[in-house]
Amino acid sequence: GKLVYAFGGGDAEGRTGMKDLLGGKGANLAEMASLGLPVPPGFTITTEVCTAFYANGRQYPDGLREEVASALAKVEEVVGARFGDASNPLLVSVRSGARASMPGMMDTVLNLGLNDETAKGLAERSGDERFAYDSYRRFIQMYADVVLGMAHHDFEEILDDYKMDRDYVLDTELSASDWRGVIAEYKRAVEHRLGEPFPQDPQAQLWGAIDAVFGSWMNERSKTYRRLNNIPEAWGTAVNVQAMVFGNMGQTSATGVAFTRDPSTGENAIYGEYLINAQGEDVVAGIRTPQSLTRDGRERQGTDGPSLEEAMPETYAELLSVFETLESHYRDMQDIEFTIQEGTLWMLQTRTGKRTAKAALKIAVDLCEEGKIDAREAVMRVDPSALDQLLHPTLDPDAPRDLLTRGLPASPGAASGEVVFSADEAEAAANAGRRVILVRVETSPEDIHGMHAAAGILTARGGMTSHAAVVARGMGRPCVCGAGDLRMEKDGEAVIAGGRRIGRGEAITIDGATGEVFFGAVPTVEPELSGDFATLMGWADGFRRMGVRANAETPLDAKTARGFGAEGIGLCRTEHMFFDAERILAVREMILSESESSRQAALAKLLPHQRSDFTELFTVMRGLPVTVRLLDPPLHEFLPQSDEEIAEVARAAGADPEAFSRRARQLEEQNPMLGHRGCRLGISYPEIYEMQVRALMEAACDVVAETGEAVVPEVMVPLVATRAELSRLRTRIEAVADAVFEEKGRRLDYLVGTMIELPRAALTADEIAGDAEFFSFGTNDLTQTTFGLSRDDAGSFLPAYVKNGLLPQDPFVSLDKEGVGALVRIAAEKGRAVKPDLKLGICGEHGGDPASIAFCEGVGLTYVSCSPYRVPIARLAAAQAAI
Ligand code: PEP
Ligand code: MG
Repeated sequence: GKLVYAFGGGDAEGRTGMKDLLGGKGANLAEMASLGLPVPPGFTITTEVCTAFYANGRQYPDGLREEVASALAKVEEVVGARFGDASNPLLVSVRSGARASMPGMMDTVLNLGLNDETAKGLAERSGDERFAYDSYRRFIQMYADVVLGMAHHDFEEILDDYKMDRDYVLDTELSASDWRGVIAEYKRAVEHRLGEPFPQDPQAQLWGAIDAVFGSWMNERSKTYRRLNNIPEAWGTAVNVQAMVFGNMGQTSATGVAFTRDPSTGENAIYGEYLINAQGEDVVAGIRTPQSLTRDGRERQGTDGPSLEEAMPETYAELLSVFETLESHYRDMQDIEFTIQEGTLWMLQTRTGKRTAKAALKIAVDLCEEGKIDAREAVMRVDPSALDQLLHPTLDPDAPRDLLTRGLPASPGAASGEVVFSADEAEAAANAGRRVILVRVETSPEDIHGMHAAAGILTARGGMTSHAAVVARGMGRPCVCGAGDLRMEKDGEAVIAGGRRIGRGEAITIDGATGEVFFGAVPTVEPELSGDFATLMGWADGFRRMGVRANAETPLDAKTARGFGAEGIGLCRTEHMFFDAERILAVREMILSESESSRQAALAKLLPHQRSDFTELFTVMRGLPVTVRLLDPPLHEFLPQSDEEIAEVARAAGADPEAFSRRARQLEEQNPMLGHRGCRLGISYPEIYEMQVRALMEAACDVVAETGEAVVPEVMVPLVATRAELSRLRTRIEAVADAVFEEKGRRLDYLVGTMIELPRAALTADEIAGDAEFFSFGTNDLTQTTFGLSRDDAGSFLPAYVKNGLLPQDPFVSLDKEGVGALVRIAAEKGRAVKPDLKLGICGEHGGDPASIAFCEGVGLTYVSCSPYRVPIARLAAAQAAI
């Protein structure tokens, strides 16, 4: 097929819908060109060429050279200049452009086509000798770095020495002949290092750059970025070759970047930065501090120089109308790059802008209210996982704080942690369970693994649109960047901020919403969930079919869950109610008792505690269903460990410590996760479950009597493998419930159901359904038992499986659809075949994972249940799955 697509000069061979083939950048350049916007002409080499290149041992497909040559000829014709022509040279940029944006991960070369001859030609033609040689030296530096594998700083050193020798401070002090001198030294350095001269042939330069950009698809940072963002390697990148335009041709030239709405807050106001007399990389590299695009933005963005609106009002007006065209064409906030060459505006890029979760919400709601999209689309626009950012704490406004310094508010959320100074350190500390703030002079794309591991990121340099700030926002990490008064100590052991020294390991707090940095750990408060959040969640609820419940045991968690919109409790893990000091003693006494009567005595001590727990829980959840799971303790978590602990239990029970110690040894298991757990315990010691059912039925009757509102208990039996287990326990549950109703003189509706968390239960679900009113898939255990993979031990080797591509994702995080999912599907079908109105839920961790929730929708589950903080994520994900 076609390998190269041309654009510019008023039309284009590609369009936006061809992102898979042309990459995001190429497709959007084509689209802008066909909208009639001013786009420098160029062409895109497709992602299929990249894929073929790697499939064929780094060989290009036949015909590529011919297609590139003819596309280049078209560019020459539109521009009216020739590639390599000494008197009127065409210069091009060569850039990557994958399907999904990968900011800063791959390579770019600008000013390509310059050599000793064409530089002279450019000087004459532009009438600006200094500009021409400055461009040439930039090209040598960039090309040597990206294509020839030399280091950027080798050239910085040469330049610094050159300036030092002549007492120059700023680059602007160098004249054209100075730049020629620097160029001579640069070329010498290249020849010295590589044993051959800097390539003078523009064709050789072009193919060198194309090779390098395709090559950068497989560099380490691209691979890491793809892994973190689930971007398949098979997608490949496109290469865009485009006529150069120059923002550095004097005071009527400029270059800039803009978001059509504020990417941090979502406010409907242009957010942009620009630099007069500069090239694009100068803005994003954070070398000079860019100025605000708009007059209003000067204050918001904290810049003091004139805005573009003030400096070039006519070009600004033209730019504004381009923004409007693009936003209404794409019906979404755009992230735009432009250059002004001697007063003429050129568009270099547009793409859907990355944004914080807060901005995503506001923009979706605003676009809907502006009539640009409908509610359905608004709901689809917000990534459920990104809501996590909003649900995170912010600084407690009443807490004392000790301000160290300030930077730019690059990514919202507050975080505190120990200071570390390298990405590797951050990763190691996070793996050891420590919360860290990664502090860097500037965050480069090589740092992404450390940014991912850190609780927050703080940098001394770089603007809001620096590549690293964009990456932090995408990851949802709080980030403060460009904190100008930050100084790293030479030995890399400490940082100086606000005149104070903070050593490695000392705590600081950053507020990514304000840009403030504080000494020590500042307490945080929970977020406020109203406004746009409530509006969008309301729309989502209108599209949602599945219910959303929470996994909660404590009244506090239950309140949080209700606040987040949970429609009931899908899993109350009763063993979690026994961990406090007084109760654990009675639990241990119960476990270690050898006779039923002493076990009954221990249970009698637990009953009032259980009853009051359930009373509180039912009171909070009035009117909503509450699924109480009967005790499922991996026994080892409850057994006393030391002699002192055994003695303490024996004392409380009035028993012989020797006997208890013997019994504790008897109860020790080789493999507690597959041992005397779940309903097996209830089968061995029915009195335990009887106590629990009594406590919960008494509590339910009391709350109904007290409030007059319904309480809907659902009694759930864990780890069932056979119908016989469930039948036996069900009989007991019903007997206790009847007894309580008799005593209380009141009957309540309640359900008895089971967890499905063993393959045998899933495969025999038609039998089990005979004794169950509901199933709840315990996909934590179902994953453990389907893979034969210990939940508690998988952490030591599973990450390597994911890293090496043996598993697409950690199956304990995102449901394994093919294996575990097949069992869920079988159980759901078999269960419903017997009992069409069987309620089906999921309460493993997967109940809060958007991809797993989409699977649950496909299987037709009744509800998902997840931890309280994930309830909003689940509501939105369930809505998207249903749309
Ligand atoms: C499960 O196994 O998925 C489950 C919810 O139960 P637990 O995590 O308590 O074993
Ligand atoms: Mg389980």
